[in-house]
Amino acid sequence: MRIGSHVGMGGKELFLGSAREAVSYGANTLMVYTGAPQNTRRREVKDLRIAQGWELLREHGIEEIVIHAPYIINLANTVKPETYELAVEFLAKELDRSAAMGSQGMVLHPGSHVGAGTKAGLEQIVRGINEVLTADTKCRIYLETMAGKGTELGSAFEELAAIYDGVVYNEKLRVCFDTCHVNDAGYDLVHRYEEVMEQFDRVIGKDQIAVIHLNDSKNPLGARKDRHANIGFGTIGFETLYRIASDPQFEHVPKILETPYVVIDPKTKASVPPYRYEIQMLRSGTFDPDLLQKIQQDSQQV
Ligand code: FE
Ligand code: FE
Ligand code: ZN
Repeated sequence: MRIGSHVGMGGKELFLGSAREAVSYGANTLMVYTGAPQNTRRREVKDLRIAQGWELLREHGIEEIVIHAPYIINLANTVKPETYELAVEFLAKELDRSAAMGSQGMVLHPGSHVGAGTKAGLEQIVRGINEVLTADTKCRIYLETMAGKGTELGSAFEELAAIYDGVVYNEKLRVCFDTCHVNDAGYDLVHRYEEVMEQFDRVIGKDQIAVIHLNDSKNPLGARKDRHANIGFGTIGFETLYRIASDPQFEHVPKILETPYVVIDPKTKASVPPYRYEIQMLRSGTFDPDLLQKIQQDSQQV
């Protein structure tokens, strides 16, 4: 099972620290942002300790990493030209950075139409991606399936397909399938797993799934909310999440956990990452209903 989580890239260690964090979780893949997801300040790739990080990853048999583009990129904005222009310019730079960091692809939220409507938003996304992708772009764009919160686009598979249809170099597009988002968008993975996958296959093609974001959801089917829950502790549940994680057709697809940290002290809100435990539980295939308490107890013993 190729499984990991999103990890940080801060301090002095930078990407070497990201690699260490992933290894400490028993992961065999990881996802990072190239810098703070909410701003455009970026260090140069040569200063990120990429080679050292990769050395450690390779020692542990890790061959694939995933990069996530920052949320501030909104290619769908037709209302504020500056937002769109910044998005195009920054996305192009992020794709270069991502390739230089050794990633084959970068996860991108397609964008929000901010009131202009689905059609205008999708057209603007297509225009933006066509400005960015060239015949020599080294890094793919992984369009993420979205929850449909606010004016978010990409919550219906057909919307992602429309982006594929308009993009000239669409062989450089893939999909990041986020289970929480798909649930919140109204696709019933719990009761209709096969049908949802068949539907995805018909509209986009299952072979286009390059990454799975494996998250439970705090909200019911179709809530359009996007709040992640720990594996097995949300409305999707362990059985369905394990089903997708262990599905042989996605064997080589990296599964990335973006589940919430577990609060260990309600007063200070101090929290710890659940990933080592969730990875172990998914590898074992057996749900542990006491997992969150166990994480809390273990953290007290340090
Ligand atoms: Fe995302
Ligand atoms: Fe996600
Ligand atoms: Zn989300």
